[in-house]
Amino acid sequence: MIIQEMIAKNLASVQAEIAAACQRAGRPVETVKLVGISKTHPPEMLLAALQAGLRDLGENRVEEAAPKIAEVLSRLPANIAPPTWHMVGHVQSRKARSVVETFDVIHSLDDLKLARRFGTFAGEQKAIREVLLEINISGEESKEGIAAQNWQNDADQRQNLWSLVQEISQLSNIRLVGLMTMAPYYAEPEATRLVFAALRGLRDALINDFPQITWRELSMGMTNDYSVAIEEGATMVRVGRAIFGERE
Ligand SMILES: *Cc1c(COP(=O)(O)O)cnc(C)c1O
Repeated sequence: MIIQEMIAKNLASVQAEIAAACQRAGRPVETVKLVGISKTHPPEMLLAALQAGLRDLGENRVEEAAPKIAEVLSRLPANIAPPTWHMVGHVQSRKARSVVETFDVIHSLDDLKLARRFGTFAGEQKAIREVLLEINISGEESKEGIAAQNWQNDADQRQNLWSLVQEISQLSNIRLVGLMTMAPYYAEPEATRLVFAALRGLRDALINDFPQITWRELSMGMTNDYSVAIEEGATMVRVGRAIFGERE
C-alpha cells in the first residue's frame, strides 16, 4: 500500500536523523521523543504512521482533531496500542474542555485562566494533564506564547512569567513538565540555534528557582530545524511534513 510505504520510509529517515543528531550531541536516542504532527491529514495517514511504529501524534486544532482521533482509535488494529495525543496549537478558552477531553499532553499553555480551566476539566474527569508553557523566546510578533525574549533584562517580563509558573504549580490536575517554543522560519536551520539555546537557558533558570517542578521537557524543533533543536537539548520534536508530506 502506497501511503503505508511512504510514511514508513519517511519515518525511518526522520528517526535516522534524530539518531545522528543525538550522536553528535552525545545524548542517548531515548531522550528525544518524536511527535508526528498530523494536522490536515486524514485518519489513514495517522493509522499508517502508527503501524510504522510512531507512538506520539500531535494536532493543532481540537475541532479537527477530536473526530479524527475517534476514528483512528476505532480503526486501530488490536495489536497496536493507542498513541499519546499532543495538542500543539493555540487554545481558545472556550475550547479548553474539549482539549482536555481529547489530548493527553498540552504543549501550548500560555495563560493562567486557561490553566485553571484545564485543571477544572481534568479534575472532573479525575485525570491529570501534562502541560508545557508555550514561550515566545524570539520576540517575533506573529508568534503565540508568553513573551520572554528579554527575561534576563526586563524585570516585568521575568516577574510575569515567574508568577505564572508559581500559580500554575499550585493547581490540581495539571502537571507542568516543561517549555515549548516555535522558532521563526529561517531558510538556514543553523540560524535557529540561538533561539533553541535561549529556551534552554530559560529552562535552566526555572530549574534553579522552581526545583520542585520537573522541567523534563523542551518541546522545540520542526521539520526544518529538528536536528539543530536536538543538539540544543530538545526532548520533544514536533515533525509534520518530513513524515506526512506537504500540507495543502
Ligand atoms: C504544524 C506544526 C508543527 C510541524 O511543522 P512541520 O514544519 O510540518 O514539521 C510543529 N509545531 C506546531 C506548533 C505546528 O503547528
